[in-house]
Amino acid sequence: MRFKVTVLAGLLMAACGAPAVAQQAAESNPEAPARPSPQTAGAEAPKPAARSAPREIPAEAFAAHMEALRKRAPEGFTFVVQPPFVVAGDEEAKRVKSRAAHTVKWAVDLLKKEYFDRDPDHIIDIWLFKDEASYRGHAKTLFNETPSTPFGYYSAAHRALVMNIATGGGTLVHEIVHPFMRANFAACPAWFNEGLASLYEQSAERDGRIRGLTNWRLAGLQEAIERGGLASFQALLLTTDDEFYGDDKGTNYAQARYLCYYLQEEGLLAKFYREFVRDQATDPTGYATLQRLLKADDMAAFQKRWEKFVIGLTFP
Ligand SMILES: [Zn+2]
Repeated sequence: MRFKVTVLAGLLMAACGAPAVAQQAAESNPEAPARPSPQTAGAEAPKPAARSAPREIPAEAFAAHMEALRKRAPEGFTFVVQPPFVVAGDEEAKRVKSRAAHTVKWAVDLLKKEYFDRDPDHIIDIWLFKDEASYRGHAKTLFNETPSTPFGYYSAAHRALVMNIATGGGTLVHEIVHPFMRANFAACPAWFNEGLASLYEQSAERDGRIRGLTNWRLAGLQEAIERGGLASFQALLLTTDDEFYGDDKGTNYAQARYLCYYLQEEGLLAKFYREFVRDQATDPTGYATLQRLLKADDMAAFQKRWEKFVIGLTFP
């Protein structure tokens, strides 16, 4: 985090209804740090003011929660309240504080500015373990869990994000999206929950707004496009959560991510989110909302344009 443009790399685990293990393989690729490009932010307007008062967890509740964590944790951990999270880490204290401010707070502030009116209604712990040994050892001693990924995972049972932070911060930002999505759009289907979360695995700040950048998921997507093996957007958006996290989950994540990326680049992503939330009762998959925003009567023609756009992208 040397520059104002914060860049995050890594992998993630999800909190969106599917079995945690099913999501780990698809989400567990570390990525190289991205460089900010000089491109300016799109014309998309930030979200309007909150429509209803967010639920607030009182400061005393965070303080009490942090004290309880401190009692449970071994020596050598630093704790930082960073609502709606409490961050705990065994790197140097100043490093833990820096991650809380420059990754967690940064992502929370910018994601809330862009999308989310409501905080999660319970405190979530973020454990940042300094290396593989600490991560695996503490997952066992604190949670009696054996990680199936070297990068990190979300433990719904413990309301905790358990991270090997040595593998990068991108995972962390992806994961941060999920509890906010759940608090604001509980019925969000997996394709959009994971597409949006994946978008910010590699992200930067431009003109005070969070922007997803191209990342490691691009190459596999380009290969699938060139093979002609990609699902239609209708098929992708109609997937149930089980189908999304099923056999083609790697491609599903990538296709959903780069649909979100396209919408972002067109200045339509925040608008899509808002209208999808607004119209969820009549359009639970988001397909009609997508068609309307794209002004695309012919979605096959749109997909051809999008595929050409994706083929033209580069990473790194
Ligand atoms: Zn996820």
